[in-house]
Amino acid sequence: SGADDVIDRDRLRALTDRERATFAERNPRSAAEYARAGNLFGRTPMTWMNKNAAGYPVYLDTARGARLTDVDGHEYIDFCLGDTAAMAGHSPAPVVAAVTRRLGELGGASTMLPTADAAAVGAELSRRFGVPQWSFALTATDANRWAIRLLRAVTGRPRILVNSYCYHGSVDESLIVAGADGHPRSREGNVGAPCDVTLTSRVAEFNDLEGLARELAHGDVAAVLMEPALTNIGIVLPEPGYLAGVRALTLAHGTYLINDETHTFSAGPGGATAAWDLAPDVVTIGKAIGGGIPIGAYGLSDDLAAALLGRADLDLIDMGGVGGTLAGNPVSMAAARATLEEVLTDAAFATMIEVATAFADGVRKIIDAHGLPWSVSRLGARVEYRFASPAPRTGTESAARADAALEDFLHAYLLNRGVLLTPFHNMALMCPDTTLDDVARHHEVFAAALGELRVAA
Ligand code: PMP
Repeated sequence: SGADDVIDRDRLRALTDRERATFAERNPRSAAEYARAGNLFGRTPMTWMNKNAAGYPVYLDTARGARLTDVDGHEYIDFCLGDTAAMAGHSPAPVVAAVTRRLGELGGASTMLPTADAAAVGAELSRRFGVPQWSFALTATDANRWAIRLLRAVTGRPRILVNSYCYHGSVDESLIVAGADGHPRSREGNVGAPCDVTLTSRVAEFNDLEGLARELAHGDVAAVLMEPALTNIGIVLPEPGYLAGVRALTLAHGTYLINDETHTFSAGPGGATAAWDLAPDVVTIGKAIGGGIPIGAYGLSDDLAAALLGRADLDLIDMGGVGGTLAGNPVSMAAARATLEEVLTDAAFATMIEVATAFADGVRKIIDAHGLPWSVSRLGARVEYRFASPAPRTGTESAARADAALEDFLHAYLLNRGVLLTPFHNMALMCPDTTLDDVARHHEVFAAALGELRVAA
């Protein structure tokens, strides 16, 4: 906000209060469930579920495709899609069939034995993302953690470099930002850091090759862990030449490059890696590839895999710190195979991207009609608007334009009219079931929300 603030803050506050009152009236059953949950830390199964615009979360009743219903009987068009975990849509039929068969007919949710599905998933991920040697986790966080451990081991270097205001899960090394004075510091709110993050990590701004070169020149960075576009501080797209520059610099400094495709998978069937012809050493991913069932995965180049498997001093079989009891379980593998082979197909992505393009175009028109200095960014099937124009070029620039009060109003307004956005962003994701009618309904409500704010056109 600041000097160029076009929002009447008193009006915004009054409208938000009104929307919260409407929410409370509409959602008594969710309120009762929340009140009953005194034995949950933060009253929710996981503390993040308190990130909501209206005071308490809506409690889920049913979910199918791009639709949710809550316990008060309201239906929502779901553009949140589990913050990407449900990009395949909720409970897609092929995943339900594969998981039901695995759990019921065949049996065996956790066995520590491989199933044939795993090799098929590895082959499909290789075809899509280009890196040929895959291993599994249950979350993208763990995929990143294990990839980092492997790259520290193989390089003998201590540090990991990330972009300022990145998000890669609860990975200790990634909770670093570039301070205003250029000095790196722990990210605000970092919970119980095991040690000062500036000892384990280096940080550069996204789209800043000079800064990256300066940091890599220390010669102590095992790996750059990055999203090809930032997606967790708004969408920050790479400028022309930036990603090629990152690859050239990492190669020149003997630093491995990890593309975290957990969110950028929205760019296409092989994520940004395939869409933009990138050549990372490692790809990490999670969420969507399981069709809603927990999974994480990392893929390594052949050389890297061979170097690691050739190291007799690394315990990859037991207590070495890479792997987990439930990772690669038969249910995750069945779900991922069905998701990749039958749901998030090339054809499905073409539709999702077409619908997302309509979403972005419509939002842009509405914003322009109100003369708002905001920008809209799209990454394949994913769209986000940011309260800044032109669109921010770095995570730090984007973080500076966060506006929690405005976000809460828009989210609550949409929620009260049957539209769910991702609570952490102004992000809308399309699944194969999202229709142009769903997009039109969003636009109708979004335009009404801005109309009530009465910003001058
Ligand atoms: N990487 C990226 C890019 C993410 O956006 C996230 C989650 N938002 C993660 C990793 C971590 O995923 P999870 O919470 O499933 O561990």
